[in-house]
Amino acid sequence: MTPMTTYLFNPPAIQSLPIRGQQERFPINRIFCVGRNYHAHAVEMGRPVDKSVEQAFYFTKSPQTLVETGATVDYPPATHNYHFEMELVLAIGKEGFRVSEAQAHELVYGYAAGLDMTRRDLQLVARDKGRPWDTGKDIEQGSVCSEIVPMPGVVIENGAIALEVNGVTKQSSNVDKLIWNIREIIADLSTYYHLQPGDLIYTGTPEGVGAVVTGDQITGRVEGVAEVALTIGAAE
Ligand code: MN
Repeated sequence: MTPMTTYLFNPPAIQSLPIRGQQERFPINRIFCVGRNYHAHAVEMGRPVDKSVEQAFYFTKSPQTLVETGATVDYPPATHNYHFEMELVLAIGKEGFRVSEAQAHELVYGYAAGLDMTRRDLQLVARDKGRPWDTGKDIEQGSVCSEIVPMPGVVIENGAIALEVNGVTKQSSNVDKLIWNIREIIADLSTYYHLQPGDLIYTGTPEGVGAVVTGDQITGRVEGVAEVALTIGAAE
């Protein structure tokens, strides 16, 4: 019998999300995010995308940044321009490496509605100086997600995506405007990584991103998937 591993201190908890209609929770492995995946958002960021000559690019957020929908989070330190980004989130249910677009659906467990919260001031400085995006994106309590909605093998190709702050619409688009669609994201990301069950992929945000302040109530949804809500608390 193998001796039980003992640790110097308690290791970090496994992050997980509820699954609609099931008792089991969905354990989170990694969080990938697609950058600039809607044309109108790429333009508002001052970096239009020409898909004929550009590849998709990705960044990651640590699983420890995850918070469930309905949370109240602290306004984070070191920013004066904390932004919402409403996104369709893809939950991977099977492993895959160098997956073809034709087989990409086999990796889909389900979907969720998420917020890729961003220190826009730090992200833009990093971008313009050629530095990593980590402090702009990998933010404690900065990856917000709804329950996971099981849709095994389903490729979502359209559906309204929208976000309001205090009841005022800020983002309103459709996931049919994704520059790199679900099949393309899975196939391309799997050329860099062995995708694994528990991986989440935030697929990018449409136009209309903006800053929040303490007290703001954010609500968003992806048609046919789920809703997500977040309240911005006081600065730490
Ligand atoms: Mn994003």
